[in-house]
Amino acid sequence: MPRIFLQVPEGLKTKVFEIADELGEDVIISGETCFGACDIKPDEAKRAGCEKIVHYGHTKFLESDMPVEYKEIREKIDVVPVLESNIEMIKDYERIGVVTTLQFLDVLADVKNYLESKGKKMILGKGQKTVYDGQVLGCDPYAGVSIKDDVDCFIYIGSGKFHPLGLLLKTEKPVFGLDIERNEMKSIDEFKDKFLRQKYAAIGMVKDAKRFGILVSSKPGQMNMDLAEKIKGKLRSEGKKAWILIFDEVKPEKLEFLDLDAYVNTACPRIAIEDRTAFKKPIVNPDELP
Ligand code: SF4
Repeated sequence: MPRIFLQVPEGLKTKVFEIADELGEDVIISGETCFGACDIKPDEAKRAGCEKIVHYGHTKFLESDMPVEYKEIREKIDVVPVLESNIEMIKDYERIGVVTTLQFLDVLADVKNYLESKGKKMILGKGQKTVYDGQVLGCDPYAGVSIKDDVDCFIYIGSGKFHPLGLLLKTEKPVFGLDIERNEMKSIDEFKDKFLRQKYAAIGMVKDAKRFGILVSSKPGQMNMDLAEKIKGKLRSEGKKAWILIFDEVKPEKLEFLDLDAYVNTACPRIAIEDRTAFKKPIVNPDELP
């Protein structure tokens, strides 16, 4: 039996020892956080003498020279009652684009049946980095973007605002977030204004900044040195000071003692969107850099 390097997402950490024992005797458990399939760890696995990675909770995202077995996690929950109690919200729309994360893909059959019973049509698109129709990632909203001209609105099934907000900004169609944790459905438009206010405030401050940190993650699916170098060149050509900083996980507290005026995030786009206010200095994603 090959030695296994095991990665599970935070939501499964309470069960990690049962999972490890099921896989066999020779399992090394990664104690690091793991938020996406962008974060496989072939180098750490090799150094720990492992010959294979078992990665829970995500689908394949990138190539690796080490074998990776992806274990999907699916949850079958009943979202129809939430849809039913919010049917007024989508009463004027007939063609409904539905997107969700891997975990909730199994609810799509019920959603389709329900929408059809109301004379509506569910439309699914395909992402660029995802495996299944209707499946989105925070950095890959294309299961929605690819069908924007074929739908009247979108429903995002999942939790948090990062995925549906990204879809709203990229498609400018009405997006409704069916939150499976809160059992409620809300128009994401409500959050758009707050997000845009924070975004433009950060862009305004970045314009006046003189000392920039360009943040890079060493996670294989997030690392983008070419982009970081390009941004550094652009900023320096404008007479600014700019340095590339590399992290495993980009976190506000790691930047605390660095004498910088602003950050450009080239790692997971979520960092500069959902966590923007957690940083003490303005932070922008590359496409927001003035
Ligand atoms: S880069 Fe961010 S959004 Fe994309 S898979 Fe990784 S954690 Fe998820």
